[in-house]
Amino acid sequence: MSGIDDLPPLREVIRDHGLSALKSLGQNFLLDLNLTSRIARTAGRLDGVTVLEVGPGPGGLTRAILALGAEKVVAIERDPRCVAALTEVAERYPDRLQIIEGDALEIDHTTLVPSGGRVCVIANLPYNVGTPLLIGWLSADPWPPWYESLTLMFQREVAERIVAAPGTDHYGRLAVLAGWRCQSHIAFDVPPSAFVPPPKVTSSVVHLVPRPAPLPCSREALERVTEAAFGQRRKMLRQSLKSLGVDTMALLEEAGIAPTERAEQVPVEGFVALANGWLARRKAAVQSVSTASS
Ligand code: SAM
Repeated sequence: MSGIDDLPPLREVIRDHGLSALKSLGQNFLLDLNLTSRIARTAGRLDGVTVLEVGPGPGGLTRAILALGAEKVVAIERDPRCVAALTEVAERYPDRLQIIEGDALEIDHTTLVPSGGRVCVIANLPYNVGTPLLIGWLSADPWPPWYESLTLMFQREVAERIVAAPGTDHYGRLAVLAGWRCQSHIAFDVPPSAFVPPPKVTSSVVHLVPRPAPLPCSREALERVTEAAFGQRRKMLRQSLKSLGVDTMALLEEAGIAPTERAEQVPVEGFVALANGWLARRKAAVQSVSTASS
């Protein structure tokens, strides 16, 4: 018995199913069900909610989510050994746990959750795929997205890059994309000693809530502009934005940004203005070429 349910302690599950941790799959398991309950509670009340979980592993977080009353958990797991271990959890919570064996990067998550229903994403993410998964969720189209919130464990350094404010060292492309579409904060840190095996660095749980109406902007244009700006983050924008192939000084002036500023000083609204201005200039250029050739 483990405290939150009548299933065996996770140490026994790991031993009985031979779940020696695989580095290649970013396996660092959480065995403390009080801690996994704390992560699940960070998402808010779960009754009536379908939770998408990536990488349930031996099921510590999955069990906490189910014990807290989530209507259903849809869990994507790449390691077949873990899938076998999770069938016991599925039996304990009939019809409430759906396990999908596969690579979360290859699966369209929208097909797994009820459309129009309440959905939250909760995961102790494998570190090697955490950032691409987050970028995928932040890039959802249409917006507002299919989920109400994302509650995700990252390495502390990645968590800081997600929530960073302008003017700070961690502020970059990820903070601009996350800040444009979501409000986010670091809920709490988790020390290496909480995991088996312990990773080298501290981890953090980040909670992201989609903004209902982000500033209108094309995501592709925003990515293009931040790529140019942060690709040369120490340079002034009048220099770093040259690769955009438009009149950089005019673009900056229209966006109300001094040409001597550097990328890390520009708030999200500034990047949105740059992205919109860049796109308008590109469209105008394409139009004038097609008019000239007709
Ligand atoms: N949720 C468990 C916990 O908290 O103890 C395990 C977390 S462990 C950090 C990451 C899990 O993600 C592992 O079980 C691993 O097998 C799984 N995983 C790794 N890459 C994956 C992928 N591309 N798609 C789905 N699951 C993956």
